[in-house]
Amino acid sequence: MTAYDPDNIFTKIIEGEIPCHKVYEDNETLAFMDIMPQSQGHTLVIPKSGSRNLLDADPAVLADLIQKTRTVAAAVMKATGADGFRIMQFNEAPAGQTVFHLHFHIIPIYEGVPLKPHAGEAADHTALGALAAKIRGAF
Ligand code: AMP
Repeated sequence: MTAYDPDNIFTKIIEGEIPCHKVYEDNETLAFMDIMPQSQGHTLVIPKSGSRNLLDADPAVLADLIQKTRTVAAAVMKATGADGFRIMQFNEAPAGQTVFHLHFHIIPIYEGVPLKPHAGEAADHTALGALAAKIRGAF
């Protein structure tokens, strides 16, 4: 597998070089709105330490990340009132990975509402900001 390359957009978000609609942050983890959401409330959870995907991640980082993902998912569910959610995680480009820094997708599911395509259409930034604030308020 190709080695982790720290020159990726999520590293820039962690380092504050580019903005994000943040919903959660601690020493190990950052969660923010996906700018091309597949559904209302689509959120990404990433470790601050770098790995390309699931296979090169430190097991201790992974163990922490899945617990943080659960915490964030609970807040996303509370804030959106979704009927369910999917956790997605892609490994390598043929599997759909487009950003090569490990991340879990939290994708709320609304009964009868089809998901939008993966990494498809950019959402309105004002709406994303309002949603992020609502999720922050749901922890
Ligand atoms: P993946 O295809 O699993 O690597 O997912 C990468 C996700 O990151 C996609 O769902 C994109 O919509 C999302 N994304 C790309 N750039 C940004 C960004 N600057 N801020 C938030 N989400 C992003």
